[in-house]
Amino acid sequence: MDRRRSILIVGGGTAGWLTAAYLAKFLEASGQGALTITVLESPEIGIIGVGEATFPTIRTTLQFLGIDEARFIRETSATFKQGIRFTDWARAPTDGRQSHFLHPFEAPLHPDGASLVPYWLLQDERDRAPFAEAVTIQARVAEARRAPKRPHEDAFTGPLSYAYHFDAAKLAALLTRRATSLGVRHLQDQVRQVQLDEHGAISQVVTDANGALEADLYIDCTGFRAELIGRALKARFKPVSRWLFTDRAVTAKVPYAQPDAPLESYTISTAHEAGWIWDIGLNGMRGIGCVYSSRHMSDERAEGVLRSYLGPDAEPVTRRIAFEAGYRERQWIKNCVAVGLSAGFLEPLESTGVVLIEAAAAMIAEFFPHNGPIDAPAARFNELMTARYDNIINFLKLHYCLSQRPEPFWLDNRDPASIPERLAQLLEQWRYRPPSRFDFNLDVETFAFFNYQYILYGMGFRTDLTPGRNDFPNVGAAEKVFARIRAYGERASQDLPGHRELIEQINAEA
Ligand code: FAD
Repeated sequence: MDRRRSILIVGGGTAGWLTAAYLAKFLEASGQGALTITVLESPEIGIIGVGEATFPTIRTTLQFLGIDEARFIRETSATFKQGIRFTDWARAPTDGRQSHFLHPFEAPLHPDGASLVPYWLLQDERDRAPFAEAVTIQARVAEARRAPKRPHEDAFTGPLSYAYHFDAAKLAALLTRRATSLGVRHLQDQVRQVQLDEHGAISQVVTDANGALEADLYIDCTGFRAELIGRALKARFKPVSRWLFTDRAVTAKVPYAQPDAPLESYTISTAHEAGWIWDIGLNGMRGIGCVYSSRHMSDERAEGVLRSYLGPDAEPVTRRIAFEAGYRERQWIKNCVAVGLSAGFLEPLESTGVVLIEAAAAMIAEFFPHNGPIDAPAARFNELMTARYDNIINFLKLHYCLSQRPEPFWLDNRDPASIPERLAQLLEQWRYRPPSRFDFNLDVETFAFFNYQYILYGMGFRTDLTPGRNDFPNVGAAEKVFARIRAYGERASQDLPGHRELIEQINAEA
């Protein structure tokens, strides 16, 4: 018998709508339009509304969804993000002097297949340029507050890699419009009960206004509530707080001091005594949040740290969010798969929430069984997603365990017992050679070897190549390339438009 399979997505935050739009578009693109997809969301519960910074994969996703870049920028108050600038992470400020380094999205220049990294490592530490500035022009461009592309350049491409900062609530609204235009059904209602059949699969969800709803596949996008995967199916949550300590954020939205205040095209991440502060420049507003470990800092102190960052004139309305770093090892169980916060959350550092949603949505679309057992892909899906979480844990921990800051939070982060074994092994190897692409298995990675290089060398990690110096004889050629990067960077900083200027131009063209 020919019967259309149906998907019910419970939850209408970034996870719910991105997954819905992705699945609908994937089915349309592959000519399999017969599936029915419904998103059910509760306006009373609402969405978490944070998650303003993304990773470059978002460009491919938006392009695939058929969302126009300029429209996206206008409708979500978006700005361009070229990376993250880390302040006071390597060392605590002394006499008001801060340390900085940039983690840009652009990979280090790799001329003629030869890596510049050994040559940078072998330069004299006292007078060499910071790593990111030496190996890519993006550092100069971003520091000069220039955009990564020119006006009217092709959508989603530019001379430099980039992602966006956006307003999460506005993104959910835009994705709602796109998904419904692709045929996704939208119900506003609340799930009160999840019923299981005799095999422990979901047989139906019971709602307030729409009665009992049935589907072949249920996608749990209910955020931290995890109504289906957690409450009903009891998927075990694996806490990872022994490695990642932060578990609270206090957030605020503040206007710019002046309408023409500088608009950074990177996220600013400033370390404090027990965590860090994000500072994200949206169009018209700054989103700021103080992330901290409740074991090392009280809520009142965190609020104080946030307020002193904002300065005496700001009177923000603050909001506190508690989270537990961890994930579910079984994210797909029988006829239910979790996407977004219901599947797991590590912490906001390096903006991995949306990127994990993109990965899960793409996998569900490709794996979706149009025939046969609906849980056929579960084992592989769970294997790939949990490997991704584990690898992200290593990358995030790298930021903390290399710091020289003296406070208890940072000392605890350097305790070898708090460093995952795989990361400890890699760090040992990287004392003698830089991170390589062969250190990583790309299908389960979010971050590449060069992302690791930017953090390692930004934090002041030493890879000692000096005893093998003679193995790197092309010093003259490398110096010429470093000089070229410097010159191109300076030229690009003049040629590319100002970041604020480009955002304003795109908005004016509505
Ligand atoms: P939510 O937005 O919470 O949506 C849950 C949905 O489920 C809502 O629509 C709700 O109404 C619905 N719902 C719940 N229960 C029911 C029910 N019983 N019946 C019907 N509907 C129901 N990610 C990034 O990529 N970059 C960042 O910079 C970033 N920063 C973050 C900072 C913090 C402090 C936190 C906590 C997270 C951050 N994230 C970030 C993660 C990001 O916010 C989430 O990945 C993203 O917003 C997706 O959330 P969600 O859709 O899973 O959940």
